[in-house]
Amino acid sequence: MADQAFVTLATNDSYAKGAMVLGQSLRNHKTSKKLVAMIGPHVSDPCRAVLRRIYDEVRLVDVLDSGDTAHLAMLKRPDLGVTFTKLHCWSLTHYSKCVFMDADTLVVSNVDELFDREELSAAPDPGWPDCFNSGVFVFRPSKETHGKLLQYCTEHGSFDGGDQGVLNGFFNDWATKDISKHLPFIYNLGSIAMYTYAPAFKQFGSNAKVVHFLGAMKPWSYTYDTQTNTVRGDVHASSAHPSFLLNWWNTFKQQVLPMMQQEYGDKPFHSGCEAAPAQPPMSSMERKQKWEQGQADYLGVDSFDNIQKKLDAFLK
Ligand code: UDP
Ligand code: MN
Repeated sequence: MADQAFVTLATNDSYAKGAMVLGQSLRNHKTSKKLVAMIGPHVSDPCRAVLRRIYDEVRLVDVLDSGDTAHLAMLKRPDLGVTFTKLHCWSLTHYSKCVFMDADTLVVSNVDELFDREELSAAPDPGWPDCFNSGVFVFRPSKETHGKLLQYCTEHGSFDGGDQGVLNGFFNDWATKDISKHLPFIYNLGSIAMYTYAPAFKQFGSNAKVVHFLGAMKPWSYTYDTQTNTVRGDVHASSAHPSFLLNWWNTFKQQVLPMMQQEYGDKPFHSGCEAAPAQPPMSSMERKQKWEQGQADYLGVDSFDNIQKKLDAFLK
């Protein structure tokens, strides 16, 4: 439907890469909804151009030069900069219903059914399940709600300093009032669950529809080895399962990177993709030791593909 949209936000080029992969993943899973990227003034021109190729609408949102309530709210609470920007999604009143998704989420299945839900539907936060996680939520754009949210924000601030604190304070009956507003966890799988409740992750993790790379290590914090098609670095520092991280990078490399290369032309940019090995390869003795200690580098040198290649070579 033309008046329904997935909405994301990127205030810089790093999060813009996340938004590119997210938008592309929504397209890959054949969404019938519009795609909207809200961007801040610091997003570079080539990144904007790539976003425009993926998204139906790329909208510049800048609380600093919007001479209204948002600007005033911003003056009182400069600490909540990005949060105010995210709340701008309520001002997209040319849509009747939207699903907001953080730029560090990835869709692994069609999720258009989310539009059957009402405002404010969201999944529980893995760290504090009586709060919803604000990485994925269903909302109805409205000037009135937008104004009230900004006012709430200025008066009460945010208990966590970000949008999640504000939204949980504002929609404070989410935990108890209406179970239909609780999205299943598979719509916002922050797979720290993989470490905190491994058996459940084993049972349900493969049903994931939306993966959320929450926390400090984002997919774009890593480098990707284009020779071996593997993610380099400590993949376990990411809150998401290594296979989801690889999924993100495959989408980036195969579909997003070619667009970036076209838009940047001769200008240099950081893609995170590298062809040459960064560190000297481990000796086979060291590798054997690591392997025996249960630390197989199973996305890197010990990936299934590499093991199979080795076996094939032996068999020949
Ligand atoms: N965001 C942004 N620029 C920033 C920080 C955040 O555009 O500098 C947006 C982006 O859409 C991001 C969301 O705000 O996904 C929430 O931040 P983040 O995902 O880093 O928080 P987490 O999910 O790790 O708690
Ligand atoms: Mn996030």
